[in-house]
Amino acid sequence: MATERTLAILKPDCVRKNLIGEVIRRIQEAGFTILGLRLTRLTKAQAEGFYAVHKGKPFFEELTTFMSSGPCVPVALEKENAIADFRTLIGATNPDEADEGTIRSDFADSIGENIVHGSDSVANGEIEINYFFDQATLVANER
Ligand code: ADP
Ligand code: MG
Repeated sequence: MATERTLAILKPDCVRKNLIGEVIRRIQEAGFTILGLRLTRLTKAQAEGFYAVHKGKPFFEELTTFMSSGPCVPVALEKENAIADFRTLIGATNPDEADEGTIRSDFADSIGENIVHGSDSVANGEIEINYFFDQATLVANER
């Protein structure tokens, strides 16, 4: 297995529910190394840019309004098999379909407000990390 990077975003619902600490704890317990972590608030345009792949889908407006509705926490993560392992940790997009004990199963209210984002491929992970972090700062945080 190769060392991979993935971008997590603790979404505005996670921040509003005061779950930043709990979700970060689970991420660290699962063996991910944190290379970058910020608190930021996306503008509507930034949310539209980040989720450009979903442009045209029926939930695009709802998604980008939600993602720009309050502060969020982008986190750049590294681990062996990070992409698949992170998606296992968070569970299915729809919390009703997410495995028991996953972050989305435990904390998400709906398919839209589902607590956390995870990259879906190594290539997209790199693109998404670059959306929020300067590569030089990530290198500085490698262990
Ligand atoms: P994932 O975040 O699990 O990779 P997708 O990439 O399919 O899921 O969708 C991106 C995000 O868009 C989801 O996490 C969720 O917030 C939102 N979303 C997806 N499908 C729906 C839907 N049917 N209705 C409302 N929001 C949705
Ligand atoms: Mg996705």
